[in-house]
Formats: sequence, structure tokens, C-alpha cells
Amino acid sequence: MSTQHPEPIQLDDDLIIKVSSLLMESIGSTRKVNVYLNRFSLDEDLTATDVSASIVLTRLNRGVLASGSATGSVELECVRCLNTYEQSFTVKFAEQFRQITEVLDGRGVTPPREEPEDDEGDDELAFEINDAHELDLTELLRQWILLSLPMTPVCGKDCPGPQAYGGNEEDVIDARFAALQDLLDTEGEQPS
Ligand SMILES: [Zn+2]
Repeated sequence: MSTQHPEPIQLDDDLIIKVSSLLMESIGSTRKVNVYLNRFSLDEDLTATDVSASIVLTRLNRGVLASGSATGSVELECVRCLNTYEQSFTVKFAEQFRQITEVLDGRGVTPPREEPEDDEGDDELAFEINDAHELDLTELLRQWILLSLPMTPVCGKDCPGPQAYGGNEEDVIDARFAALQDLLDTEGEQPS
């Protein structure tokens, strides 16, 4: 692996990288990028905190491959006891960013034939390097972190369990039952 640029780029609370110089290098050239985000909004009511990502950008024929990993935590609601807790995550990812503009003369790059544009469903996954040759990692990280979060979050070994059935720990209650559990909890008065 070539390491002409061994010094990693450090981004703090920023996810946009200028890649014009990388795009003028030969295929296979790389940049290492380290990202730290104090807070990172994933959704209207989901925010990741203390996010660290280590990313390698690799020059491809018509774009850049961004691969790496990220760690951090997100405040989630436990489906069993309904308390909020800090869920840590570790996620590995690799996504291709398409180059739509040539660096030297500003002409558009013809999209490769094997990627037809008529598939509307793939649009949100087609990352692009913008006209200013900037690569925005926001959507990549947002989507991959969301995918890494558990479908049925449970706060941990010390989960007190559902209020109405305290003590029965043997089956993990999934999200559907959590809603039902919520109804049961409000029907029967909580002890203590
Ligand atoms: Zn819990």
C-alpha cells in the first residue's frame, strides 16, 4: 500500500473533506482521516455522542472509497424497563463516493454504464463527491450507525425488567411486546 501521505487528516465536529488533490492522484492512492464528533444527530430524536471514526479514503477509477470504523454511544430507551441508557456502538463500513465532476477542467464525468440511473430505490445510497470536490461523510456515518443499533435495545444485565412482571428475566421482550407492556404497566398500578 502506498503511503505518500502518512499524516492523517484530523476533523473535529466536521464531516466534510476536500478531496481534489486525492482525485488528481493515481488509482489506489489513499488518505487517512480521523474524525471526532462531540454530538452527532442521527434522527429527530436520536443523537450519538463521543463519536470517533477512523477512515481511509482510496482513489478509485471514478470516485473514492471511504472505508473504516466508528465508535460512540447513543441514548436509547430499554424495551423492557423503558429507562433510557447509553448504548455504545462499533461499526465498520465501506462506501463508494461517485465523482461527478472532473477536477482539472470541471467537466462532468460520464457515469459508468453498469450503474443505471433509473433505479430510484438506490438513490439514498448513492453517495457523491460534490462540485467543489468535497466528500461529505455525514450520511454515510448516520446510516451505518443507525444500522448498528439494536432493534430491541436492552439496558444491560442489571435491567430491572418490566415493572408489572419484575423478576421474570428469561425471555427478551421485543418491540411489539414492549408497546403492550407499556399498556399493562399503566393499567395495573406500579408497586412502591
Ligand atoms: Zn432495562
